Amino acid sequence: MEKIVSLCKRRGFIFQSSEIYGGLNGVWDYGPLGVELKNNLKQYWWKVMVHDRDDVVGLDGAILTHPAVLKASGHVDTFTDPMVDCRTCKARLRADQLAEKNGVRQCPNCGGKDLTEARPFNLMFQTQMGASADPASIAYLRPETAQSIFVQFKNVLDVSRKKLPFGIAQIGKAFRNEINPRNFTFRSREFEQMELEYFCRPEQGMDLLAYWLKERIRFYEEIGISRKRLHVLDVPEKERAFYSKGTFDIEYEFPFGRQELEGVAYRTDYDLQQHIKASGKPLDYFDEETKERFVPHVVEPSAGVDRTVLALICDAYDEDSAPDEKGKMETRIVMRFHPRVAPIKCAIFPLLRNKEALVAKAREVQALLRPHMNVFYDEGGAIGRRYRRQDEIGTPFGVTIDFETLGEKGEELRDTVTLRDRDSMKQERVAIKDLPQLISSKIR
Ligand code: ATP
Repeated sequence: MEKIVSLCKRRGFIFQSSEIYGGLNGVWDYGPLGVELKNNLKQYWWKVMVHDRDDVVGLDGAILTHPAVLKASGHVDTFTDPMVDCRTCKARLRADQLAEKNGVRQCPNCGGKDLTEARPFNLMFQTQMGASADPASIAYLRPETAQSIFVQFKNVLDVSRKKLPFGIAQIGKAFRNEINPRNFTFRSREFEQMELEYFCRPEQGMDLLAYWLKERIRFYEEIGISRKRLHVLDVPEKERAFYSKGTFDIEYEFPFGRQELEGVAYRTDYDLQQHIKASGKPLDYFDEETKERFVPHVVEPSAGVDRTVLALICDAYDEDSAPDEKGKMETRIVMRFHPRVAPIKCAIFPLLRNKEALVAKAREVQALLRPHMNVFYDEGGAIGRRYRRQDEIGTPFGVTIDFETLGEKGEELRDTVTLRDRDSMKQERVAIKDLPQLISSKIR
């Protein structure tokens, strides 16, 4: 994990937020490569979950949330962790994370035994709307994206003219005042979710739960996460939310242990019913064929963007060996990202920076590829070093413009380049005009 955290900083995937002021605990900034990786992940999720389907539409709800919404959903009253204070060192601790010695609870910080009883601590961030400070002006930063989907259910149903089963998808920020942010970005206080609420008839719920579990596992495989590090936990009834008839956690084997990436839950009609009760508005569905009116049930695959980015990084990290400039074998760090999510798809290298014709041709190749993918131009240093820098950030393809390209080693090689594969390190000679098609077909 240490190697991964240090690579993330060194190469610009993830930085600690407000680092120059000592850092803001549990909050992270994504650097130039991190934002590309994250965007690629979100775009692929949106493609698979929305664009490729007839039965899902999107929503982008607000982060600031009316307290009544979160009162109805149960978050105001029950979205809590039990907390204990250590009277000796004043640390505030999660009750389930206390140390225990000979059956006596201890503070894991100072070893003190003078601890308070456990009290519920609400994980939501509160803020104040407008200038007045009265309690009526409280708003919350949403703790999940799902609630705006439920609250907008009727509006979306009316405008999209969808019939059950159909879903509403959303990607966006969520905020939780986690007591113990830890394991790098895994448990953060500000994070992003990718959520689908898939509405259905009550009798379809259990089948759709199984269906979405399968779909979601396939998604992780399609972005390059190895199946053997993915696990499915069938959450036992006593650990599920009381309204859920079935929940699966999709877990990933992180270097710090097996942890949840996504929850796939059959939530019955709980959320819509709660909002019907609290708002007095009809959030029901009229089935034209059967002439029935009822409140739809919902299956929810809810994934974390940041946790998936972290899993992508952990899964991609590899070390092998490659020859250096003098042919001596050295350790190579290589991020084996699936080309679909890799931050940069293709790097373009003129063999020498001081040969104008090579540089001009390389710039031409860059302009040719740029409309199709994110490319990176690099003319600095020995070619082997340039390859290594790209391997370390997971760029799947490298194109080198050399004297053959200029036609100086025979007319038949004019306007051809070497295309290098990151994983096999093999190089093949291909015509420049074939590059866009050849690479595009591998990064979609
Ligand atoms: P955990 O038990 O790990 O706190 P959870 O079961 O509370 O997670 P959900 O409420 O089901 O999580 O949220 C859905 C998804 O949102 C999670 O699977 C995870 O990917 C993501 N998520 C939740 N909390 C955090 C967090 N603090 N930091 C990063 N991602 C999070």
